[in-house]
Amino acid sequence: MHSYSDIDISPYLTMNIGGKVSELIEAESEIDLKHIIKNVISFERPVIVIGGGSNVIFRDGLINATIILNRFEGEIFIKDGYIHCQSSVSLKKFLLFCSSNSIKGFECLSGIPGTIGGALCGNAGAYGHYIGEFVEDMEVFDRRKKSFVTIKREQAEFDYRESIFKKTGNIIISARFNIPGRGYEKDILKEMKCIIEERKRKLPPMHTKCSGSFFKNVKVPGKERRVAAAYYIDKAGCKGMKVGDMKVSEKHANFIVNIGNGCFDDVIKLSEIVKKNVFEDSGIRLSEEVRFLP
Ligand SMILES: Cc1cc2nc3c(=O)[nH]c(=O)nc-3n(C[C@H](O)[C@H](O)[C@H](O)COP(=O)(O)OP(=O)(O)OC[C@H]3O[C@@H](n4cnc5c(N)ncnc54)[C@H](O)[C@@H]3O)c2cc1C
Repeated sequence: MHSYSDIDISPYLTMNIGGKVSELIEAESEIDLKHIIKNVISFERPVIVIGGGSNVIFRDGLINATIILNRFEGEIFIKDGYIHCQSSVSLKKFLLFCSSNSIKGFECLSGIPGTIGGALCGNAGAYGHYIGEFVEDMEVFDRRKKSFVTIKREQAEFDYRESIFKKTGNIIISARFNIPGRGYEKDILKEMKCIIEERKRKLPPMHTKCSGSFFKNVKVPGKERRVAAAYYIDKAGCKGMKVGDMKVSEKHANFIVNIGNGCFDDVIKLSEIVKKNVFEDSGIRLSEEVRFLP
């Protein structure tokens, strides 16, 4: 375990936005993570766990909170017909484990940054599928009971970019996944590569400072599938709009990117302008997919 006081949180987040947190504790193993939760932190101030930091931005200034950084290498293995995975494991490592074990079905998650814990909290997904579909159960720290419990998929209330973890703040320690299908490693890798290539064509380059899709795609009455928020943002003429160093990407209208030293206030101002323009243009009220913390 490594512990830091009054530390700048922004380098730990892909959007690079946020002020100084009072405490940051980095877990180095699952045993360490459980020890930190049970014995080190007091829960007297807000406690937030982050993985890859690819879906969150923090407010500027001094932030009175304890951040647990959960992005150590982590373990993943197959037992009794399930994939067991620690929450700190990156999605990339998870997918490569699946392909090398001839497990097919998770390719839709290719190219999504972050960890299994963060992906489960936000029910990350693409191409009409999301990670919650594949879960059997999860070991979780229940803040109310102050103990580690196992919860089934049905209890996690997975929905489009939503889960119970966003409401309770309970901390995911590990998860068991069902094996959706079997295939040849080379075919699975080929499919993953295709998806990554398609994402490269559609999205800003991977090193861009951003948090992925800024707004949730939109539920439109009479349409089975959600309509891309990018469609409405583009239609409202917001592509390329800037506030300070924050910009609506020219390549993908639902990506708000930090082109230099953007700050939280700039993000809020720009996102409010986008929301207003989209509402005036299409009557659609956008809501954020990116989480503002604490
Ligand atoms: C370039 C780019 C492309 C992206 N593309 C997609 C996409 O196609 N689809 C998609 O769904 N998302 C996408 N995202 C968003 C993001 O990558 C995913 O949501 C990812 O799963 C978040 O994981 P993370 O570990 O980075 O979570 P973080 O950003 O660290 O955290 C996100 C939330 O999860 C919580 N959390 C983190 N770990 C845990 C844990 N162990 N237990 C409980 N709660 C936890 C945090 O408190 C926070 O509320 C993209 C992001 C980027 C930068």
